[in-house]
Amino acid sequence: MDKAKVFYANARATTWEYDYSVPAKLEELLQRADLSRYIQPDEYVAIKMHLGSPGAYRTVRPVFVRKVVDAVKAVGGMPFVAETTRIPGLEYLEVAAANGYSHLTCGAPIIMADGIFGRDTIPVKIDNGKLIQEIGVASAIYDAPAMIVLSHCKGHIEPGYGGAIKNLAMGGVGARTRCNHVNRGNLHSTAHHPPLWTKEKCTWCAHCEKVCPVGAITLKQGEAWIVDAEKCDQCGRCARVCIFGALEMPIGPDLFSRGMAESTQAVLSTFAPGKILYVNFVMEVQPECDCMPTADTPLVQDQGILISDDIVAIEAATLDLLDQAAPLPQSKAEDKGVTTAGDLFLRVNEQDPRLAVTYAEELGLGTSAYELVEIRKKRRSK
Ligand code: SF4
Ligand code: SF4
Repeated sequence: MDKAKVFYANARATTWEYDYSVPAKLEELLQRADLSRYIQPDEYVAIKMHLGSPGAYRTVRPVFVRKVVDAVKAVGGMPFVAETTRIPGLEYLEVAAANGYSHLTCGAPIIMADGIFGRDTIPVKIDNGKLIQEIGVASAIYDAPAMIVLSHCKGHIEPGYGGAIKNLAMGGVGARTRCNHVNRGNLHSTAHHPPLWTKEKCTWCAHCEKVCPVGAITLKQGEAWIVDAEKCDQCGRCARVCIFGALEMPIGPDLFSRGMAESTQAVLSTFAPGKILYVNFVMEVQPECDCMPTADTPLVQDQGILISDDIVAIEAATLDLLDQAAPLPQSKAEDKGVTTAGDLFLRVNEQDPRLAVTYAEELGLGTSAYELVEIRKKRRSK
């Protein structure tokens, strides 16, 4: 099998000129990728990304979204920025606006791909799915003929790493569904069950109650922790903020990673071959998901931007870059005693970040054999 091409521009600005800036390098990467190979004139193009949360501001900056939107328009495409509901849709659009994402800044409308209630999904079957046989893909992504996937690469407590695969696996499917097909929450909990609570470990700090995006938790101080199973989206946020280990999602990281690969397969199956391009932003690489109530300091210096039409190749190249980077002081890496390069997320988040990439390759979604083509700017002589 031929190696997949991954174009890469590093984040350093070695000369104080626009051409050496990261936005300029993104323009060049988009030219090298040649969007006309993926997008036909007048075609709708979903720009899939995560819009952050009120405190998690380290997402893909609007200036980069605008560059991608402009590049899509330049080849005649009709872009729209698409995300699925994480918190209820109208509130999420307010968060997006506060984080700088609007039609004015991005140059394209911002929509909830699964509708403002998170129920606009189309059931898609997964051939040979071990965990998932059918899942509800967000309707606007299902119907889009082409897609550019903008992923902020960072850590994640469950699969270790969140990049393009996670962006589609969790963000390409609905939070809820009208019928009984599997939704995003069922990926966090293959037992299709809200988190499990251990009373003996609970300190009644109420942190879980505060972060639940749908108000499913009621805490009766010193007595009971009650979850409304009808309301609970099984997002796992409460379990992730409980530092006392009193809450647990009923799923292991290997199953979660396998589920992510299968869900990604479902989302990709709704596009014709050659209609998707991936852009990974390996910048502000913080240890946790952009859904969380806050963002921590970066684990490594900004590495740059990668572009490829192979999701496995770009994820493998991203993890290789991160594993070559020196961990930063004053970060979670330092807290964990990780001071040398190598196995960054495995050591910081104690989960194997390559599991989902391996499963995705097994499912035939791409190849981990890649050729990194670096866009280099010549340093000006003094
Ligand atoms: S966050 Fe954990 S310790 Fe705090 S109230 Fe919730 S379950 Fe109990
Ligand atoms: S998993 Fe926890 S935070 Fe998420 S919806 Fe259910 S109760 Fe709320």
